[in-house]
Amino acid sequence: MSKSLNIALLGNPNTGKTSLFNQLTGLNQKVGNYPGITVEKKEGIFRLNRTTKAYLTDLPGTYSLNATSMDESVVIELLLNKSSKDFPDVIIVVADVENLKRNLFLYTQVKDLGIPTVLAINMSDQMKRKGISIDIPLLESKLKTRIALVSTRENKGLDLLKELLINYRQLSILPTFKIDDIDQNYFDDLKKAFPNQQLYKLWLVITQDVNFAKIERNKITDSADFSTLSETHLKKIQQKETVKRYQLINNILKETLFIDRESASDLRFVLDRILIHKFWGYVIFFVVLMTIFQSIFDWSSIPQDFIDNTFASLSELVKSKLPDGVFTSLLSDGIIPGLGGIVIFIPQIAFLFLFISILEETGYMSRVVFLMDRGLRRFGLNGKSVIPLISGTACAIPAVMATRNIENWKERLITILVTPFTTCSARLPVYAILIALVIPQGSFLGLSYQGLMLMFLYLIGFGMALISAWILSKTLKIKSKSYFIVEMPNYKLPLLKNIGITVWEKTKTFITEAGKIILAISIILWVLASNGPGENFSKAEQIIKTNNAELDQETLANKINSFKLEHSYIGILGKSIEPIISPLGYDWKIGIALISSFAAREVFVGTLATIYSVESNAEETIKNQMASEVKSDGKPLFNLASGISLMLFYAFAMQCMSTLAIVKKETNSWKWPLIQLLSMSLLAYTIALLTYQILA
Ligand code: GDP
Ligand code: MG
Repeated sequence: MSKSLNIALLGNPNTGKTSLFNQLTGLNQKVGNYPGITVEKKEGIFRLNRTTKAYLTDLPGTYSLNATSMDESVVIELLLNKSSKDFPDVIIVVADVENLKRNLFLYTQVKDLGIPTVLAINMSDQMKRKGISIDIPLLESKLKTRIALVSTRENKGLDLLKELLINYRQLSILPTFKIDDIDQNYFDDLKKAFPNQQLYKLWLVITQDVNFAKIERNKITDSADFSTLSETHLKKIQQKETVKRYQLINNILKETLFIDRESASDLRFVLDRILIHKFWGYVIFFVVLMTIFQSIFDWSSIPQDFIDNTFASLSELVKSKLPDGVFTSLLSDGIIPGLGGIVIFIPQIAFLFLFISILEETGYMSRVVFLMDRGLRRFGLNGKSVIPLISGTACAIPAVMATRNIENWKERLITILVTPFTTCSARLPVYAILIALVIPQGSFLGLSYQGLMLMFLYLIGFGMALISAWILSKTLKIKSKSYFIVEMPNYKLPLLKNIGITVWEKTKTFITEAGKIILAISIILWVLASNGPGENFSKAEQIIKTNNAELDQETLANKINSFKLEHSYIGILGKSIEPIISPLGYDWKIGIALISSFAAREVFVGTLATIYSVESNAEETIKNQMASEVKSDGKPLFNLASGISLMLFYAFAMQCMSTLAIVKKETNSWKWPLIQLLSMSLLAYTIALLTYQILA
């Protein structure tokens, strides 16, 4: 007969929970969200022995059972809710051997809930170097449970851990600590009022911040009004509990933990002095970042070109092999480019998370966060926002995905909302062609005007991100306690398995979650571009051929495409927005390019090429064509005023459906991407309008 066990993995952040989870479950894992909130839920399955299957949940890191964040409330809700299908049969509390004192605080709280709890003391590989030794049998008897000394890095101690889990029924469920001792009178009253309740559990329910723990209290007690004491008095008891628990832990560790300071070599001390130095810290971080982004750009461009070419030739192949018709066109102009538009992001996502997880695994990320926190906090952001903001210069999609590390929901949301302002690589082709077109050559103090303009666009992107973060932090009414614990883990060599799993998981999430939306919008755009009302669209070929009989095949085909696009639904849309965009200095052709580049900004250039029916897609030809475009009054369409207005429009507008898709995924609702789309478009429009009106 086969049995199954529910196991919950708990522990302070950075104790190695995820490493242990990965080690036990391998790729048999599933990442989701807790209902209604964006805290990540990781579940995995593994075999304990031939007959027993374990369902393992990697819970968010928590310092105690006194919730101060959404992540922690998830843990408490699970542990208090016996009727939940995820309620654990047995808990593993993971502790880091170098931080036992702090880690055991959570352990004693969890243990006192009366659920069988195994203590896994991780990172045992560090013991020798740090001169640590532990009297395990004595510690086991003091803590009233069994202990597995493990090293996920060296794959040690996992067999013992599994054995303890299989025999979880033999674990003691006695509390480590008598809660009554803190305030005899109060707890006696409580016992009298609720004789059938487990006392510590009752106490936890009473003291939870109601805003976080959404536990239905009457599930646990019959009456909602079961606390007779004022909030201040309750806080006092809670403080006493904390003090008493630390006393208990100190006493236990005095007898069981021995540290030989002599043999402890500390590289950490030296590294910290440099890496969080007030000056050198920033210099080093800057160099690290530049190296990373340079490599992301360089390395990604190879697979990206390959992907681009593959999907392009696939489209061609479909067109040439299948008979002409709607289905062929859907496949070659809608679905294949849509899929290509998803796959093209994979290299950047994979490389970015490769680097991020290396920075995290080595412990360097915590130093960066520490370094950047003070500056960013002024704008309502968090030290951890620095990675998304800077990754945004490659692409907003992995950047938004990287906000997952920010525990505080309000700060995470603000970071997600402002990240698309940073200048991503898809804006570059648009900027490049417009700068070449409207910014004069010449230079100022040895810097070319064109280079300065590009730099200005980057700076204004960052600037707008910071300003809007500040505004959002003042206006968003989200209750979310901001606390900053300077968690400085030790420096370590990264674990390859952890890195591999992170990269795999992020890529997979992107493809399955955002991919659906991207594909759907691509198809909608295809429908709008390849259909049109009336004769002009359906008879495009005849009309062009009869009027231009003398032209060669290729020119004719270009003209037909251009004519079709003009009379398609997108073309009609582009024309109908002309009254709205002409105050910005744009005509209907730019309007069409604006609408179709909603798929991705770089499409702007290609669409203009189609509309102008230029022979080749070479940038030079397109540029010449753009330069010769004139308005009805005979003046050039692209001049300084309209060019800068257009660049600023692209700097601020949310012209990217893929980003919207990923924001929907990360915020778990359509509300935020829609707010983002509307407010960014409005801002872009206003600024472009002002620019054109002032410069023209
Ligand atoms: P979590 O925050 O509890 O999920 O911890 P992680 O699994 O992310 O691990 C935190 C850090 O500890 C990472 O840098 C891991 O590589 C490292 N780590 C995990 N297990 C071990 C171990 O057994 N020995 C050593 N030396 N490092 C480990
Ligand atoms: Mg983790």
